[in-house]
Amino acid sequence: MTRFSGFSLFAKALNGHQDWPEFFPDVAPKPQYDAIIVGAGGHGLGAAYYLAKRYGITRVAVLEKGWLGGGNTGRNTTIIRSNYALPGNEPFYELSMQLWEGLEQELNYNAMVSQRGVLNLFHSDAQRDAYARRGNAMRLHGVDSTLLDADGVRRMAPFLDFANARFPIQGGLLQERGGTARHDAVVWGYARAASALGVDIIQNCEVTGFLRDGSGAVTGVETSRGTIRAGKVGLAVAGMTSVMAQKAGLRLPIESHVLQAFVSEGLKPLIPGVITFGAGHFYISQSDKGGLVFGGDIDGYNSYAQRGNLPVVEDVCEGGMALMPMIGRARLLRSWGGIMDMSMDGSPIIDATPVPGLWLNAGWCYGGFKATPASGWCFAHLLAHETPHDTAAAYRLDRFRTGQLIDEKGVGAQPNLH
Ligand SMILES: Cc1cc2nc3c(=O)[nH]c(=O)nc-3n(C[C@H](O)[C@H](O)[C@H](O)COP(=O)(O)OP(=O)(O)OC[C@H]3O[C@@H](n4cnc5c(N)ncnc54)[C@H](O)[C@@H]3O)c2cc1C
Repeated sequence: MTRFSGFSLFAKALNGHQDWPEFFPDVAPKPQYDAIIVGAGGHGLGAAYYLAKRYGITRVAVLEKGWLGGGNTGRNTTIIRSNYALPGNEPFYELSMQLWEGLEQELNYNAMVSQRGVLNLFHSDAQRDAYARRGNAMRLHGVDSTLLDADGVRRMAPFLDFANARFPIQGGLLQERGGTARHDAVVWGYARAASALGVDIIQNCEVTGFLRDGSGAVTGVETSRGTIRAGKVGLAVAGMTSVMAQKAGLRLPIESHVLQAFVSEGLKPLIPGVITFGAGHFYISQSDKGGLVFGGDIDGYNSYAQRGNLPVVEDVCEGGMALMPMIGRARLLRSWGGIMDMSMDGSPIIDATPVPGLWLNAGWCYGGFKATPASGWCFAHLLAHETPHDTAAAYRLDRFRTGQLIDEKGVGAQPNLH
């Protein structure tokens, strides 16, 4: 693998960047692997990388029906944070944050990790109390959090509408180590590093079914490029999880919903970090190119279409206008949609399935980008040792049967409220 450095960039610049080698070879599928991971998003590629790097398991293929990061990883609004409250979640997301902090050195790839801060606004006394509790829970786990009053928020973001009588901004919970990362660079970085360790990354290869032996165990996959056998098959297909699981005879506590994102024309630097509106579903940051990147709620009904619908466009724009009315002057450049794998308690699943040989990484809802490094880390551990990683031990599939839900938002089995 070519090492990127200031020196190599300079040297290649001398001949107009003409002879950079390919990132990873375009290989044909082999007949058999030790492990197959379905889905080349950040979670699948991260798991393949850590399988090879940490456990020496390199006879691995990542199969992708489209192109790298063409799913949610390349469609999200790039926010990373570890501001969770519940014991099952906080250590996991903090592990992820710590992995983000070393990711670019680990992969020798610029993922544009930018810890510019995540600020969650509150607009009522009850919301302030809830955020204070969350901040205290974070601190008990050794994670940074600061509760700001209205003046503290005003110093960071004077352009917010503090005079709004309906939703007065009382303050905010700030995680300074939160921020953003360039989403598609994350998949390219993991793919490049995994490939260098021997992992086969195979695009345009759709998994259409599973091979089963006499006992029902999964022994490989049927694909659009032929049959491939494997000791283990891991699913990391986000919004297509329920479709794939059904092919193995499983019904999972997951619904697929569209989530949309929006970007404006490029503007001068304005938004200091990530800001979330507490009185409606709206959040915003600004990309390095200057576009305002924002989003809101999921679409209200189940869908597998990677496109959005107008009622949510209107709802998101209303939220933006309520929080910072001057956004109405910015021109919207693009919008797009991705398919969320909404679990029934809003928390993910990293676990074995009842079908031997089939392993599951799913239920990331609209918050799985920040989890990418820890998810790959813990899924690789699960595939290598066949026991959950300590940090992800709560993400069991059977919690929906036993009642040990991780209901971070306290809204129950209501994907439309998560
Ligand atoms: C608009 C939007 C905004 C978001 N904002 C944030 C955010 O700010 N912060 C955050 O933390 N999270 C965010 N998320 C959520 C986050 O993007 C996802 O949870 C995360 O990227 C999921 O990663 P993944 O690797 O599991 O899935 P994906 O990146 O979707 O990868 C799954 C892959 O599986 C492939 N696949 C599916 N079926 C098959 C098949 N049969 N055979 C082969 N391949 C298959 C797909 O093509 C896809 O590439 C957002 C999502 C969206 C859509």
